[in-house]
Amino acid sequence: MSKLYTFQLGTLKLMSISDGAFPVSKEFFFANTPEDIIQDIPPNFDAPLNFLHIDTGDKQILVDVGFGKTLSTAGQLLNHIKTQGIYPEDIDTIIITHAHMDHIGGLSNNGKPVFPNAEYIMRKEEWDFWENHPQSNECRKLKDVEDRITLITSDVEIFPGIYLIHAPGHTVGHLCLYIHSEGTSLLVASDILNDPRTLQYLPSHIRAEVSPRQGLETRRKFLQDTVDRKALVFACHYPFPGLGYVREESGRWEWIPIVLQND
Ligand SMILES: [Zn+2]
Repeated sequence: MSKLYTFQLGTLKLMSISDGAFPVSKEFFFANTPEDIIQDIPPNFDAPLNFLHIDTGDKQILVDVGFGKTLSTAGQLLNHIKTQGIYPEDIDTIIITHAHMDHIGGLSNNGKPVFPNAEYIMRKEEWDFWENHPQSNECRKLKDVEDRITLITSDVEIFPGIYLIHAPGHTVGHLCLYIHSEGTSLLVASDILNDPRTLQYLPSHIRAEVSPRQGLETRRKFLQDTVDRKALVFACHYPFPGLGYVREESGRWEWIPIVLQND
C-alpha cells in the first residue's frame, strides 16, 4: 500500500503521509463504545498514523510530525517526505495539534531538534498542561524545541486561508485546522475522531481524552462544520490516507472515504 498520498486543494499542494503503525488496545482506542459497532476489531491492533504536509508555494508546513524514533513501528514520516525531495531543513512551520507522543515524538532526537529551521505553533493551554506535568515524556519533548514555539490563545489565520481553531476535549489545547483555497475546504480533525465506525456513536473516544464531555461537543460542532462547508476531512487515525467526506442523515453520521487516484 502506498504510504504517501498527494492531492491539491485550490492553490495548495498537500500530502498525507503515513508514519507507520501505532499498536493499541481496543479498550484504549474505543472508550465508551457500544460493542456491536466494533465487534470485528481484535483486542489489540495497529492504529493508522497519518500526518499532513502543506506546500503553500512559499511555505512548507507540517501538521504534527509523528512518533520519530520513540516507537520502532513508526517514525517513517521523514523517509516518506524525502522521497518527494523534502528534507527536515526545508520545513518552515510545524503546527502541533496536540502534544501526545504520536504527534510530537519526531520533534527532536536525543534532545536535538530534527527540523533545524522550523518554528512551531501550538495553543498556550496545551503548553501549560504539559508544563504542569514536568516528568512526562511530552513535556521533555516540548522543552527540546521550546525557544522556537509560538503559543496562541485565540483562533488565528496563520497563512492565507489556513486557520487554527481551538477544539478542546481530546486535550485541553487541541487544535483543528480549517483550510480554504479557491472555494474548496479541508478540515483537519487530528484526534477528535478515532475511527470511521464510531461516527455512529459520537461519545466514543480515544481513552486519552481529558474531557469526554467537551470532546463530544467539539466532535459534534466539527462534523456539522464539515457538512456545512462541504469540506474534505482529514483524520490522523482513520485508515490511510485519512481523507474523506462526512455525510449526515437523520442525526446519523457516516464516513465516505476518498477514492485513491495516485497509487
Ligand atoms: Zn493521535
